[in-house]
Order: sequence, then structure tokens, then C-alpha cells
Amino acid sequence: MHKLVFGTAAAAVATTVMLAAQAQTPNPNAPANFITFNSPVTVLTHVRVIDGTGAPARDNQTLVIRDGRIAQVGGVASITLPAGANIIDLPGRSVLPGLVMMHEHLYYPTGPGVYGQLGESFTRLYLAGGVTTMRTGGNTNGVMDYNLARRIEAGEMVGPAMDATAPYLNGPSPFLQMYGLKDAADARRQANYWADMGASSFKAYMQITRDELKASIEEAHKRGLKVTGHLCSVTYGEAADLGIDNLEHGFFAATDFVADKQPDVCPGQARGQQSVAALDENGAPFAALVKKLVDKHVALTSTLTVFETFTPGRPSPRGLDVLTPQLREQFERAHERVERSASSTYTALFPKDMRMERAFVKAGGLLTAGIDPTGAGGVIPGFADQRQIELLVEAGFTPLEAISIGTLNGAKYLGRDASIGTIAVGKQADLMIVGGDPSTTIADIRRVETVVKKGVGYDPSKLIASVAGQVGLW
Ligand SMILES: [Zn+2]
Repeated sequence: MHKLVFGTAAAAVATTVMLAAQAQTPNPNAPANFITFNSPVTVLTHVRVIDGTGAPARDNQTLVIRDGRIAQVGGVASITLPAGANIIDLPGRSVLPGLVMMHEHLYYPTGPGVYGQLGESFTRLYLAGGVTTMRTGGNTNGVMDYNLARRIEAGEMVGPAMDATAPYLNGPSPFLQMYGLKDAADARRQANYWADMGASSFKAYMQITRDELKASIEEAHKRGLKVTGHLCSVTYGEAADLGIDNLEHGFFAATDFVADKQPDVCPGQARGQQSVAALDENGAPFAALVKKLVDKHVALTSTLTVFETFTPGRPSPRGLDVLTPQLREQFERAHERVERSASSTYTALFPKDMRMERAFVKAGGLLTAGIDPTGAGGVIPGFADQRQIELLVEAGFTPLEAISIGTLNGAKYLGRDASIGTIAVGKQADLMIVGGDPSTTIADIRRVETVVKKGVGYDPSKLIASVAGQVGLW
């Protein structure tokens, strides 16, 4: 009792000291510190427009932003500059829609089976990389994603607009930061509890049963929310039949082709991947699965970035210097191990999944993009989002198609394509301004100079500098 009183008094003193210090020191992380422009009317002119629909780039355009929305867009000669506007001349630059990315997380692997919660640094990095809207594809903390989504929406913090996903819906698993569902009734309770708490979508995981998944989907759909899955115990085909909205990781997580697959049991991710590696990608079973997904309107999320870190012979990821020195070293050791793994399944599987994702699109499927900053690390928000678009081009999409997958397709999935995802009059001014021309040279997507969200310009270099060397701590 004595201890408790003492502790409370000490905490009160500490809080008073902290508040006093905060009152005296300006907040170095206030949103205003990252803003480059915020005017009622902003004009971007002499700029190349890549509108996100897949249409060819248009040179020498003017784009008028008024009250956070795109008011006019057209050839320089066709648009009269509004009086009093903030005019930004952008020769040699391109303007694209802000990225709408679908498999983001606010956590990162920091230790064996441990995910550090890095919401504040990650939301800045996503925005710096050009992401203006994102879905978190499962959370391992409970409420942080919703709190960040609300505070960003209120302008108290900077970051993309967020579709904040609930904690994973999964059966018993080795993951310490995941709840294990007991049965279908439990799945119904969990879905409704987290929706009440603020979740706007759900992610099912590798050990869920078909009954639990069915119950989750029913409850989510009753509330107008969507369910995606990184599955294993349930096959892609079964999930499609149960009404799932989206599947993650291209075909890397499909267990449909495991010969002795037991219902509701995950045969292990490695066995699933071996079966995909052995599959005839031009054969009837794969075509039938693709047809089922397309017929049932199941979207597929490409997360090539995380699999690239498992594949030998690939370039070292960008952005590693934002990590704490310890996390950077940890990833570099993991990367060396990958480089030495001469017989890795991923050598063949990585390009094969790329071809399978293209086959899905060719058959009429909706492909979206995300990064998945998990694995053994090295998938750095923002930097990896740009990389994901580059990898779609490596997969065989044209740069214009890849940009459209990373912008319009995400907006379509979220049901927000009337307001975001392309550059068009009336849409929200969510944009990225980059040097060069990513419609011909996709690597130019790395050259982000300004990210515009609701008409407000943010400086990527300031956002990155504010977290440099500290990602892993907060
Ligand atoms: Zn993930």
C-alpha cells in the first residue's frame, strides 16, 4: 500500500515535469514541420501527368488544386491560372496519384518471434515514399492502428489515410502476439468486438479453420467490412467459396496444390510453396483456381518485396539506414545467409509467382499491391512501396499498368475509387511529384520530391530525416 502511494506520487511528479518540458520545447514532430505547401489554391504547372488509369502520360500539363481537391487539369495553354494561387513550376517532373497500398503493417520483426510496434516512424516513411492511402494487413498490437488512423485523419500526426485492420483472426499458433480463436462462435465475437473498437477490415491467418473463416466473413460482411487472408490451413479455392474478399501474397501462400492436404490443417508454408514451385503453371488445375478467384471477385495482393528478401541474387533493399544500427546489422546477417542458400526454392518460385500474378490479371482478376514489412526484415516502408511497383514491371506489366495497380486498383478494392486512386477533376488531391518520367523509366518512382495529401505538400526528405537511425525504437 505504501509502495503504491509512493509510486503514484512519483508518477505524478514525473508527469508534471514532462508536461512542463513539453510546454517549453516546440514539438519537432509537429505535422507543420513536414509541410512544404498548404494553400487554398495550389497550381502545379509544366508537369507531366500520369493519371493512374493506365492512359499514356501527358506532357506539359497544369493541375489546379483547390481546397484539397483537383479542380482542373489540362494542357498548359488551356488553363488560366487562378489569381492568388501558389504556383509551382515543375519542368522535368511527373505527377502521379498517391500510392494506395494494401499489405502494409505498422510492425517490424525486431527479435525471435517478436514484432516491434513502429506505428509512428512507419506512417511517416509510408507517406515519404508516396503512399497516401494504405490498408494495414493485420495488426499485432490491438488498438494502435486505429488510434493512428484517427489521429492522422484529425491532422494531429502525419501519415497516409488508413484502413486499419483488426488483430489477426487465427487459430492457435506459435505467434506470441496473436490470439488463438477457439471456434466459430469465438470468431463471431472477435470480429464484432474489433469492429466496435474501430477496425475497418480483417485479416485471417494461417491456422484458421474453414468454420471460423466462414463465421468471420459473415460477421464482417454484415457490417460492410472486408476480409483478406494469408492462408495455409484453408486453401485459396475454399476461401473463395466461403466468400473471402482478398488473398495476400500472390500465389506464394496457396496450399491448393499440396497432394495430401488435410482439411483445416496447415501443412506448413514451405510445403505449400514447394507444391506451387512444382505446379504446371499452364495446366488445368491452376487455370481452374484463377477462374474461380476471378468469377468470385476475389482480389489478389502482390507482395513481391518481402519475397525478394528471401531470394538469392537480388539487390540489397533501399532504406536500411533508417533502421537502428542493431536492426540493420541483424538484417544484413540474414541477407548474407540468403545469398549463401544456393538451393533456395525462391530462385525458381519468385519469377514463377510473377508469371502467375500476370496470368491472374490476364484472366480479369483485380491485382493490388503491398509490401509486407515482415520476414527477416529489410522491407522498409516507403522505399519498399516504390520497389513493389518496380517489381511489377519486372513481372512484365508496363510501367503504366504497374502504377495503376499501385493506385487505382487499391482504391477500387477499398471502394474509394470515386474519390482517390487517379488524377481527375473532383478527386482528392492525393499525389506524388517525382523527378523524371516513371511511365518510361519505372525507377524514377524513387525520385519523390513532394507527396501531396488532400492538397497539402509534404517533404519526403524531412519525414525520413525525422526517423533516421531510430526505426526499431518507435
Ligand atoms: Zn503481412
